[in-house]
Amino acid sequence: MKVLKFGGSSCADAAQFEKVRSIVRADPARRVVVVSAPGKRFSGDHKITDLLYLCAAHIQYGVEYDDIFDMIRSRFSEIAQGCGLATDLSGEFDTLRKRMAAGAVSRDELASRGEYFTARLMAEYLGYAFVDAARWVRFRFDGTVDQDASYAALQAASGGRSVVIPGFYGVMPDGSIRTFARGGSDITGALAAAALDAEVYENWTDVDGILMADPRIVTDPAPIRRLTFSELRELSYIGAQVLHEGTIFPIREKDIPLNIRNTNRPDQPGTLILDSIRDEDADGSFITGIAGKKGYSIITIAKSGMSSEPGVLLQILEILAKHGVNIEYIPSGIDIVSPVISTDKVGGQIYELLGELQKAVQPDKITVTDHIAVVAAVGRKMAYRPGVSGKIFAKLGENGVNIRMISQGPEELNIIVGVEEKDFEQTIRTLYDSFIKEHVL
Ligand code: ASP
Repeated sequence: MKVLKFGGSSCADAAQFEKVRSIVRADPARRVVVVSAPGKRFSGDHKITDLLYLCAAHIQYGVEYDDIFDMIRSRFSEIAQGCGLATDLSGEFDTLRKRMAAGAVSRDELASRGEYFTARLMAEYLGYAFVDAARWVRFRFDGTVDQDASYAALQAASGGRSVVIPGFYGVMPDGSIRTFARGGSDITGALAAAALDAEVYENWTDVDGILMADPRIVTDPAPIRRLTFSELRELSYIGAQVLHEGTIFPIREKDIPLNIRNTNRPDQPGTLILDSIRDEDADGSFITGIAGKKGYSIITIAKSGMSSEPGVLLQILEILAKHGVNIEYIPSGIDIVSPVISTDKVGGQIYELLGELQKAVQPDKITVTDHIAVVAAVGRKMAYRPGVSGKIFAKLGENGVNIRMISQGPEELNIIVGVEEKDFEQTIRTLYDSFIKEHVL
């Protein structure tokens, strides 16, 4: 049995609904379908969830919102008509409108209606049973999900049938509706897959998978065919615009593979994310993917004799922690350390922070270098393979990139370089062109 989640663009209109149906019908194992609310049909279009939040804001400020409400209503009736469905949502929309006027609908409940109505329509269209997320996604009072209770409730509610489930929300112990953070239908899908022990969690979106590099920097980067959850974490931590690793913990716990697919190009295999990958092909690149971010600063603190003076590093870390500044990397030399931090996290506190460091550590020298970019080459195949970093540094050097900082995790899953922001794009392009391109042509 496979659990599928379709994102907003996959549910945007009747034509997209049709694509969803042919994908579902193409494989009898595709029996559990989680949907997002309709997203944009074209650039400049509105996402239903945005419109619902806009209604909530209008209610809050006592401003009239009929136009927005009607826009939402008509998006759904267009889909119903376009798909030739018998489900009539008008009564439910009227009731919702009345309850809104009476102040009886919370912001969360209102936001959740996009997914709710989409799932109602999709259930009829696919001929599957509708199972409301409010029947099984159980939140605790602190806002975390009670996984055991939720899993048991979904098993009971679905009863082995083929079902459609709205994403993005669940129920609080007092019966009220609560939503996840934006994009939260991914979590609903992961919870459903874990609850029902799916063989795979297919996440259908509008891209061919996770790309090997940022398409704004590299022309036509190839999608990553397979990667591990750890590699995904490395890439998303450093800025790759991918499904956040944190949203998929339920399937990771149960060792369920995640397959990211494109609703508009179902013939493409997408990206498959697994706990571990054993049968490595020897060819492929040693780099699985490249990601990076600008906006870092390096604080360099030098003090002769520092290496043999216990506790200095601790003092530095404590001062940074006190200011809520997270250390991203911490390269060091003898008598010198240089924590790399995200510039906007320090913001206006930098002088205060430097003053405190000065006072506590009494360094010989302390400097701050802004406008640093960090680029990570991530790849499980780099581990225990001699020569990889040499190749990377040589290529960057040949292409005129000066490396300001180097860091390699102990698991050898990544090689991270800090460069000046002006060299950021060049660094990514050099890595892609030198080590990935030849393997994907
Ligand atoms: N519709 C919600 C949002 O726009 C949830 C989701 O699509 O995952 O954030």
